Amino acid sequence: MAKHVFGFLNKKDGIWVDVLSHKYDKLDFWRNTAPVNCSWFYRSLHKAAPQIKPFCRINLINPALTSFCWDPWCFDIPIALKPTFINMNVDVNLLSISDVVNGDRWCDTSLLYVFGPNFNLQELSSTSIDLNSGNHWIWNPPTKLHKISSTIYQQLNLSTPPEEVWPGWQLIWKLNIAPRTKHFMWTLFHGLLSTTNFLYHLNLGPNDPCSLCGLSPETIDHLFSHCTKTKQVWSYLSLRLNTYIYFPNGFASGNQLTEGNYSNYINSVIAATAWMLWKSRCNIIFHNACINLPTVVCRALAHVQEYTDCNRSLIG
Ligand SMILES: [Zn+2]
Repeated sequence: MAKHVFGFLNKKDGIWVDVLSHKYDKLDFWRNTAPVNCSWFYRSLHKAAPQIKPFCRINLINPALTSFCWDPWCFDIPIALKPTFINMNVDVNLLSISDVVNGDRWCDTSLLYVFGPNFNLQELSSTSIDLNSGNHWIWNPPTKLHKISSTIYQQLNLSTPPEEVWPGWQLIWKLNIAPRTKHFMWTLFHGLLSTTNFLYHLNLGPNDPCSLCGLSPETIDHLFSHCTKTKQVWSYLSLRLNTYIYFPNGFASGNQLTEGNYSNYINSVIAATAWMLWKSRCNIIFHNACINLPTVVCRALAHVQEYTDCNRSLIG
């Protein structure tokens, strides 16, 4: 079946490919599941695709046929699902491959602008651009075996199931918050925020308790969901928004932000509140300041308001 997935993606000659392409359009197995009333064969393609998708890559790209966010043209998975750094001044949803291409070559300057100076331009050196052909998909891990089916079989036997990718990365870029706040959320969801507990595990400092309550080690989940002070902040916010906001499973692992429970506005306010909490926590540690919980909420609401207005005036 994997062979057929590649046949379909690469539009190999065959009546079945024409028929299915005409009927179902593009096989977008990163986002869609099989349509309800589709044929058993198309359903089987959809079943096989998720197994092999972490190993598929496009090595010949037609920018017009490739989605910037939803095709694996640059990494092993689509950018929408990849926890990669993207310039906060760029709206990733408005980008297309043509923006990072100059004629039939990659534009290094644009790529570095979008992905930052740490982006490995070498990664794209094996991917060519063709403005006239269809995309060509390949099996990504290098292989000595010739038959694609035996290669895939071998790889699936060797590998453990791919980690489920998290759709929240893309959501962070859409929030109505300042670029620095987006970057903060990005760091937080990577588990890389320099809480005292994080630094302690890197041998970079003592394991000081949470500066808000002084009772538990300062981890991300404690600071943003389990701390008694933080819980009060979320209840103030719940009252202000008239929506129950809580993170029983932890802030970073709960995924409430992405499960569609909240609107983009509420998600933005949650992110801004987390940012204000973090700033207050830093002020306590570095400036001996006191924390005023209702102010944290007011500042977060003002922050989102400011960025919503600012975006509106940019558009209008
Ligand atoms: Zn605490």
